[in-house]
Amino acid sequence: MTHATPFAEQSAFEQNLDQLAAVAVHVGLGLKAGQELVMTAPLEAVPLVRRITEHAYRAGASLVTTLYNDDDAALMRFRFAPNAAFDHAANWLYDGMGAAFKSGAARLAITGANPLLLSNEDPDKVGRANHAISMAYRPALELITRHEINWTIVATATPAWAEAMFPDAPPQYALAKLWDAIFETSRINTSDPVSAWKQHDAELQRRAAFLNERRYSALQYRGPETDFRLGLADDHLWMGGGTTAANGIYCIPNIPTEEVFTTPHKDRADGIVTASKPLSYQGTMIEGIQVRFERGRIVEARATRGQEVLQKLIDSDEGARRLGEVALVPQSSPIAHSGLTYFNTLFDENAASHIALGQAYSSCVRDGENLTPEQLAAKGANDSLIHVDWMIGSDKLDIDGITASGAVEPLMRSGEWV
Ligand code: ZN
Ligand code: ZN
Repeated sequence: MTHATPFAEQSAFEQNLDQLAAVAVHVGLGLKAGQELVMTAPLEAVPLVRRITEHAYRAGASLVTTLYNDDDAALMRFRFAPNAAFDHAANWLYDGMGAAFKSGAARLAITGANPLLLSNEDPDKVGRANHAISMAYRPALELITRHEINWTIVATATPAWAEAMFPDAPPQYALAKLWDAIFETSRINTSDPVSAWKQHDAELQRRAAFLNERRYSALQYRGPETDFRLGLADDHLWMGGGTTAANGIYCIPNIPTEEVFTTPHKDRADGIVTASKPLSYQGTMIEGIQVRFERGRIVEARATRGQEVLQKLIDSDEGARRLGEVALVPQSSPIAHSGLTYFNTLFDENAASHIALGQAYSSCVRDGENLTPEQLAAKGANDSLIHVDWMIGSDKLDIDGITASGAVEPLMRSGEWV
């Protein structure tokens, strides 16, 4: 807070922050009375965390527990900890989160970390540390990817993130611009954000229903340096907007969200795909990604920046070279419309059609929650420690749907729904 800021503006900001918290609790989580809430957040998110905490208790939460991440402290580990330390993660912490989810807690993540935090650190240490976290978090993360519980992600602006997005702007101005972008794309800048979300959710559900009715067996992508055919999993289900978790609670897992998405077939991807945006992965930047798939597997991967991190990423395990998600997003979405690159997956994946390496969402396979891992794999759902979205959509990308009989139907032209 600065003395220079007029009171009226301050109050508009406070109102927006409160609305974002209300949307997180009532739309994103659909938090139920009596539920516990486990939240993770960057240190700079304290004002938003407190708004969310109040809304959660007013909604009847039994206990709100927030775990804060401190970017500077994380960096000290890379600077000063012994080399052997990087294969180690706080297993007890992730076990505890898993236990909380199993006992009925909802999960809220606030994103806003510095996307460039680890970009100058040793890629080997970064890769090992990420792998250790993935291993430790896997059991808890599975409860989320299987939609056993209600969960959501929302964003907070932070000075470091704002600086990464607007490197030439004065810090206060950059931060204000990022907040504006978050409020705008999270549909907070309307008189009734909760109903705006209901309407938007219905529109995404309608798109997903259309694709489910068409039952395409594959998608064909054509664009600059992209010529790619992607088979869809047997019994795949398109999803968009909200979903009813296995605990019976309706939640919208990403605020904002613009995508409709499903599970591709892990053995049916062929051709060349070029990323349309840089990928921010765990504090490092991977730019100019181009990969070639053969029968579902990446056989060649290049990046103009961060090649080593990309290589480590796809070497995480066998499933890391295969796809676990395919998502369609029109170029006219508010996030794409803002013309900004956020270096944050929550935003960038909702600005462009994308694919994700790694773990598939079993909820995107019909009756997936009740299938064994073997049954899911037989339908083509991929299995991995990682799930990393990368953006391939642009206003130059055309996408066709291929029906079971081989008929070709135009789905997107120049990045827009046909
Ligand atoms: Zn996605
Ligand atoms: Zn994803």
